[in-house]
Amino acid sequence: MDRPIEIDGSYGEGGGQILRTALALSAILRKPFTAHHIRSKRKNPGLQAQHLKAVEALTQMTEAETEGVTFGSQKITFFPNKILPGDYRFEVRTAGSVTLLLQAIFLPLCLAQGSSRLTLVGGTHVPWSPPFHYFSRVLLPTLKGMGVSSNTSIEKWGFYPKGGGKIELNIVPTPELKPISLLDRGPVQRIHGLSAISHLPRQVAERQKEQALKRIRAEIHSEADISIQYEVPSNGPGSFLFLLVEHERSLAGFSSLGSRGKPAEKVADEAVDALKVFLRSEGGIDPYLADQLIPFLALAKGNSSFTTSRITEHLLTNLWVIQHFLNVTILKWGEKGEGGRVEFLNK
Ligand code: ATP
Repeated sequence: MDRPIEIDGSYGEGGGQILRTALALSAILRKPFTAHHIRSKRKNPGLQAQHLKAVEALTQMTEAETEGVTFGSQKITFFPNKILPGDYRFEVRTAGSVTLLLQAIFLPLCLAQGSSRLTLVGGTHVPWSPPFHYFSRVLLPTLKGMGVSSNTSIEKWGFYPKGGGKIELNIVPTPELKPISLLDRGPVQRIHGLSAISHLPRQVAERQKEQALKRIRAEIHSEADISIQYEVPSNGPGSFLFLLVEHERSLAGFSSLGSRGKPAEKVADEAVDALKVFLRSEGGIDPYLADQLIPFLALAKGNSSFTTSRITEHLLTNLWVIQHFLNVTILKWGEKGEGGRVEFLNK
């Protein structure tokens, strides 16, 4: 068996993303790895519920052998076997993010030998992770351009702290990913959005929508088509505002979540502020999509490229992780915090 690739989990951004990307690539390429100092500089170091579930899920999906896989562990070793497509149900305790779990398990299933059906239970709209609507309305449609064929639905929303949301996905695999170029987004075609609440007064959803519309009209000089969902099914209260901007050649998404004591107007302001920053830049894609696309682009057969409104630590760290697994030439222009461009030269 190959010697495991060694990965320092505290490098760069030093978060769970290092582990998720390493798991996905390890499973696809059947290259074992050891990650040490996992999330070692965090207040709650080591594997938390969502990270642990990612390792457990890929262990099941690849009949992997592992070492050190326990809650709080800062060092694990993962020896994968062949990816087994199929029907899987995974539950992340409390409000652990299901979309972050997907960052580990989705790509391997996209490249498996048969179709899969996933049921995931946990947080669907929780801080510091892609909301379900970002995954379904920005990431998936972009990946479709690379040959990824998947549809998804949300049965129940999981807000912090109760979680318990439920999403389903069907994945039809592709033998290889097509390269993509996202250098120039083209003109804006439409801005649309969603203001959604659960177990909260109806005015919260209306105020979120009105504030977002008011600012988009005044500051972006544009119209937006924002729909309202008053009572999304969930185990606890929550509010969410999502803004999707369709440019001619790319999609970008900006969102915000309510929390106790946070006015509905502030929820709207956060999403509109992020949208404005993006629209003022020239990046082809938003900073979230940039880091989330990296493993897909690295595996695509051919050269891919994008420009983004902001180079983030997540983006740089993900580039660093993939270079442990793949011999791909990466060209990068721009520094952290600035707009930039990344190219993958794949033979
Ligand atoms: P940590 O170990 O720091 O607790 P984590 O495992 O919770 O980390 P991160 O490693 O920080 O997660 O990864 C966060 C991921 O969520 C990144 O891919 C980032 O692009 C994505 N993300 C965060 N906020 C948003 C958002 N508002 N919209 C879309 N994606 C987001």
